[in-house]
Amino acid sequence: MTERHDFVVVGLGALGSATAHQLARRRHSVLGLERFELGHHRGASHDTSRILRHSYHTPEYVRLTRDAYDDWARLSSAAGRELVTVVGGLDLFPADPAIPMVDYTDSLTEVGIDFDLLDVDAIGERWPQFALPAGTVGLYQRRGAIVPAGPGTAVLQDLARRHGAVLRDHAEVTAVTGTSVTLADGTTYAAGGVVLCADAWTDRLLAPLGIDLPLTVTLEQATYFAPERPEDFAPERMPLWIWMDEPSFYGFPCYGEPTVKAAQDCGGPAVDPDARGTDPDPTMLDLLAGHVGRMLPGAGRPVRSLRCQYTLTPDRDFVMDRVPGHPSLVVGLGAGHGFKFAPTFGRLLADLATGERDTVSPTFALDRPALTDPSYAVHWLV
Ligand SMILES: Cc1cc2nc3c(=O)[nH]c(=O)nc-3n(C[C@H](O)[C@H](O)[C@H](O)COP(=O)(O)OP(=O)(O)OC[C@H]3O[C@@H](n4cnc5c(N)ncnc54)[C@H](O)[C@@H]3O)c2cc1C
Repeated sequence: MTERHDFVVVGLGALGSATAHQLARRRHSVLGLERFELGHHRGASHDTSRILRHSYHTPEYVRLTRDAYDDWARLSSAAGRELVTVVGGLDLFPADPAIPMVDYTDSLTEVGIDFDLLDVDAIGERWPQFALPAGTVGLYQRRGAIVPAGPGTAVLQDLARRHGAVLRDHAEVTAVTGTSVTLADGTTYAAGGVVLCADAWTDRLLAPLGIDLPLTVTLEQATYFAPERPEDFAPERMPLWIWMDEPSFYGFPCYGEPTVKAAQDCGGPAVDPDARGTDPDPTMLDLLAGHVGRMLPGAGRPVRSLRCQYTLTPDRDFVMDRVPGHPSLVVGLGAGHGFKFAPTFGRLLADLATGERDTVSPTFALDRPALTDPSYAVHWLV
């Protein structure tokens, strides 16, 4: 007989794990399916850390970050430990930046989130670790924070299980509808609803339903540097930072180890997620190390790099929607900046799946021009 669950969640990275948690805590029977082992490194939710921040380029995202902070606080309380490490966040806009600062200041102002604008001297006085080009302006938001990536995803899985969800690894889904899921070994599960959180593999599962998403998977790279004086980069003394230009880079203070992590945003090549390498790319490392060496001279030498995937929509906006023609099939996709919102994705996708909410936002809809108009101009830098 076919096993039946109220909901099946496909993909157990951060978004799927958060959705399984949300559905299970609402007392639904939940089956989560993951094609690899839980916590694997072939997707997007592994490694130590992710940035959580209010500063975003549109008021809609800034509003959503308020939910994200609230949802992380609720998750911390459910987990019985603080998952959010507040260190402050510094968005660094050079003179004539590729990313317009006004989008950020206007959006924060509209939503009522406080911030400070600091010139190079003010930044240097407060954080002498930085050596910045003249004319750089820092947008400082005091609530900028670090959340745990792999360990945070494991917390979501643990809580989902505690609420009764069944999570199966090495269970590759080959076909989905809104009411059934089929595995590579032929097993079929019936469901009241299905939530697809397969990130880089989303389009493969949707294509047979006639949904052709213009997603690009890029192979990103993060690198850890070893400062000679890690105490100068301690979270109490060093903020998160983002270099708001093309290329765009970002970095962390020390977080659980005496290293500082940095990376380029959207710096990696487009890849097939099933045929990509895992080795560090020396050219990407050189570009990053050059920037870090100039901007944070005490950050030290690179000691390790790792790869991770972005799954990008043409407008870099999320997907949170029901699949047209399949109202009980819901899709969530983080577009390479979704981790900070993982608990929020979980709540909103669960709302969609249960019918507690009809839609989330036209910005995240599957029928928006960026996903349906082939002439839509791709823009990933935000
Ligand atoms: C280097 C890097 C840095 C980042 N930094 C930040 C940051 O600072 N802040 C931020 O907010 N976001 C950040 N992001 C983005 C964020 O990490 C991702 O948006 C988020 O982790 C995506 O989670 P996910 O669960 O959708 O994807 P994944 O973690 O990839 O999970 C999808 C899962 O689906 C599984 N799956 C796929 N197909 C199937 C199938 N057929 N059957 C069963 N299972 C399947 C996969 O194996 C995978 O485990 C970063 C990403 C990278 C790569």
